[in-house]
Amino acid sequence: MDTETADLDGTDAAVIGGGPAGLSAALQLARYGRRVIVFDTGQGRSTHHQLNRNYLGFPGGIATKELRTLGVRQLAHYPHVRFAAHRVTAVVGDVRRGFTFQAQGHVWWARTVVLATGVLDHFPHFPDWEQYVGRSMFWCIACDGYENRGRRVLVVGHTDAAAGEAMQLHSLTDRVVLLTNSRKDEISSRFRRRLEAAGVPIVHDRIKAAEGADGRLTAIVTRGGEHLPLDALFSIQGATPETAAVRGLGVRVNAQGYVEVDVEQCTSVPGVYAAGDITAPHSHQVSAAVHEGAQAASAANYFLYPPELKAN
Ligand SMILES: Cc1cc2nc3c(=O)[nH]c(=O)nc-3n(C[C@H](O)[C@H](O)[C@H](O)COP(=O)(O)OP(=O)(O)OC[C@H]3O[C@@H](n4cnc5c(N)ncnc54)[C@H](O)[C@@H]3O)c2cc1C
Repeated sequence: MDTETADLDGTDAAVIGGGPAGLSAALQLARYGRRVIVFDTGQGRSTHHQLNRNYLGFPGGIATKELRTLGVRQLAHYPHVRFAAHRVTAVVGDVRRGFTFQAQGHVWWARTVVLATGVLDHFPHFPDWEQYVGRSMFWCIACDGYENRGRRVLVVGHTDAAAGEAMQLHSLTDRVVLLTNSRKDEISSRFRRRLEAAGVPIVHDRIKAAEGADGRLTAIVTRGGEHLPLDALFSIQGATPETAAVRGLGVRVNAQGYVEVDVEQCTSVPGVYAAGDITAPHSHQVSAAVHEGAQAASAANYFLYPPELKAN
């Protein structure tokens, strides 16, 4: 394996992930004058079709993809920030030696690391499923519940999390159906009673095909032959935190695999910070990712100051 000798010149921080969390971290580090490299494969949650209507400052909403484009353009003003469109496959190291990154057959080096790799959503897969994500296939009530008030909503999932989302969506529309889309049904009797009382039917079947066009789903057809008309599908089938590449760092993760951080986005490993969807299951919003990225950058920057510049 080659070593990128040009990169052994003192990169202050490597940011892994170029979504809202990673771009925000890179921006804040850039403004401290830090030399930064951002690795990004461009495939995360912020690359679907959704219009983000709950990010402050955009009265008509903003496409998250557009927000990323604007972020990259903003970073172009800082020549000490570089982008590498590479997948990081492994990271090892510690603050004494620095951290080494394997990507695209090369090895890079940096003094600190910000993890911002996001999660992989488990959306239902049927032909052309990706064209619907963010247009009529969603997962988050805070993001897309409001626009679906009074509409036909199909919630997909077989757990209490799915049943809970169906009940929450029921506060916005009384036209909710729950489809388990699994051989399993792990919905507790407590939630079953609540769904029944609210008039939310449960369909025990799996998805065979979808009907729709131009990103607009109109119906789901099940393997058992049910035809479920809908305006919006909310997938509550879970997500996997993207931590495989960074396991070598040994950062502590919680029971669901999310990276544990303190209030300043410090992980359990000194010099390693984490921000955005990779850090917790309940704050998956662009606003949280941007805040956490900026906070992680500030913590990393402070860490990099020599002792004589620190008040404590
Ligand atoms: C359909 C949908 C609708 C949504 N609507 C809203 C909304 O209305 N409002 C809102 O606030 N939020 C919304 N969200 C959530 C929001 O998109 C996420 O909270 C946000 O994108 C998280 O940002 P992030 O930077 O943590 O992760 P991501 O945006 O997922 O970015 C992670 C980046 O890391 C890269 N990456 C991963 N692993 C590696 C690796 N090993 N090497 C290099 N790069 C890597 C990925 O390719 C990706 O570009 C929505 C999400 C979806 C899916």
